[in-house]
Amino acid sequence: MSLAELVASLRAVLPCDAVLHEIEDLRPYECDGLSAYRQLPMAVALPQDEAEVAAVLRICHARKIPVVARGAGTGLSGGALPHEQGVLLSLARLKRILEVDPIARTARVQPGVRNLAISEAVAPYGLHYAPDPSSQIACSIGGNVAENSGGVHCLKYGLTVHNILGLRVLTMTGAILEVGGACLDSPGYDLLALMTGSEGMLGVVTEVTVKLIPRPECARVAMAAFDDIRKAADAVASVIGAGIIPAGMEMMDGVAARAVEAYAHAGYDLTAAAILLCEADGAAEEVEDEMHRVERIMQMSGAVDVRLSGSEAERLRFWAGRKAAFPAAGRISPDYYCMDGTIPRNRLAEVLGGIEALSAEYGLRCMNVFHAGDGNLHPLILYDASRPGELERTERFGARILEMCVRVGGTITGEHGVGIEKIDQMCAQFGPGELEAFHAVKAAFDPDALLNPGKAVPTLRRCAEHGAMHVHGGTDRFPGLPRF
Ligand SMILES: Cc1cc2nc3c(=O)[nH]c(=O)nc-3n(C[C@H](O)[C@H](O)[C@H](O)COP(=O)(O)OP(=O)(O)OC[C@H]3O[C@@H](n4cnc5c(N)ncnc54)[C@H](O)[C@@H]3O)c2cc1C
Repeated sequence: MSLAELVASLRAVLPCDAVLHEIEDLRPYECDGLSAYRQLPMAVALPQDEAEVAAVLRICHARKIPVVARGAGTGLSGGALPHEQGVLLSLARLKRILEVDPIARTARVQPGVRNLAISEAVAPYGLHYAPDPSSQIACSIGGNVAENSGGVHCLKYGLTVHNILGLRVLTMTGAILEVGGACLDSPGYDLLALMTGSEGMLGVVTEVTVKLIPRPECARVAMAAFDDIRKAADAVASVIGAGIIPAGMEMMDGVAARAVEAYAHAGYDLTAAAILLCEADGAAEEVEDEMHRVERIMQMSGAVDVRLSGSEAERLRFWAGRKAAFPAAGRISPDYYCMDGTIPRNRLAEVLGGIEALSAEYGLRCMNVFHAGDGNLHPLILYDASRPGELERTERFGARILEMCVRVGGTITGEHGVGIEKIDQMCAQFGPGELEAFHAVKAAFDPDALLNPGKAVPTLRRCAEHGAMHVHGGTDRFPGLPRF
């Protein structure tokens, strides 16, 4: 189908300004937060309601045109990277909060609503939506569902999948699926869980029912400085081992803390090898008690300094550094590549040592910022894309980090998804059996493979061509192929 025919068919169902095809209009959509990968789509469609989304899907389905859904484009794994022969389907105009039910503690929202906007809208009822990605000021709830996003408070309150009750989803044919519902459990296969984290590969989310929880009466944070990152890693294990579930537990290595401090002035110790932030929330007496238990554990683990926030302003200041860690990387390097892997908490010190060794091997600096409580690492590899070969070296370094995560019993993503970025590492994470099951699920929802093709799930052939093999648990699931 020619571009002119595609634009004419889309303009038959959408207002003229909701179909973009001039190169300068397509440019803002050429990448997501993983800007190393760029691709212009044939056209961008900007529907404003579910009926228009369905109409776009029906047109593309009839003409076998690939469709890539896009929320706010803050994804870090290239999930919303356009297809050159496809339509980029932006959900940004579906941004209404449809209903807030303070008694049931739920809200029904369109997919383009920003994560933070939900909590802002329900604040008058003393409620909030718990998952809080650091990008929450910009990212959309539809994108959060598609990536099963997490955030600082997910250690205590769970990921997106634990905080939603229902979805309306359109399949590639434009048919509506209603999954989940008002009850905690529903019969049949758990399609709500299946859709959450499906990276726009199975359907387009057009409505989300989220759970709301009361805003905690009080929150305080302990900030501890360590002269050895292993001591900080041990402190994380000791806090959890003591039966405490902090509202958030985040770590930064010395490189990250120094980069951030110059930018955010959070009060971090510039000589520290690691900074650990541990938050307690709830009723004031509980928080007081938990803070002092955490303080003792940090001291016993060898912290050189522990400070407890004495006011809300100080709590926010301690967090400001952590929240600004990604932008701070931009101040010390022309480019940075944010990795996202998860490991068992007790392997933290070992993996950080491995990353340090790889940093020396590849001659690239790396700063580590992570959700320590749930073992979710975010090594930020610092590089300069204008230097020939440096991006490729960075990608190889990143791939080695993810493979190391799998080897210690972890996963290649904690919250950013697979997208285009980690598709080859999926071959390390899964064997042919699991990959075939993924393809069967995809075929059940989208037999023509038109939704976000080429992302998230590699073909067995691709795994073979990349010489990749399953490493989880050390089992050789692709016999005959070389090891990484
Ligand atoms: C500075 C920064 C900090 C971040 N911090 C975190 C963090 O703490 N935790 C975290 O989990 N992530 C984080 N992220 C990553 C990112 O913000 C999340 O993955 C977020 O959920 C993406 O939402 P989005 O609306 O931008 O989605 P997009 O980037 O637009 O899309 C992401 C994926 O979702 C699909 N998609 C989008 N909307 C729909 C829909 N309606 N239906 C079906 N599929 C859809 C797309 O096809 C794509 O595959 C961060 C990103 C940045 C830039």
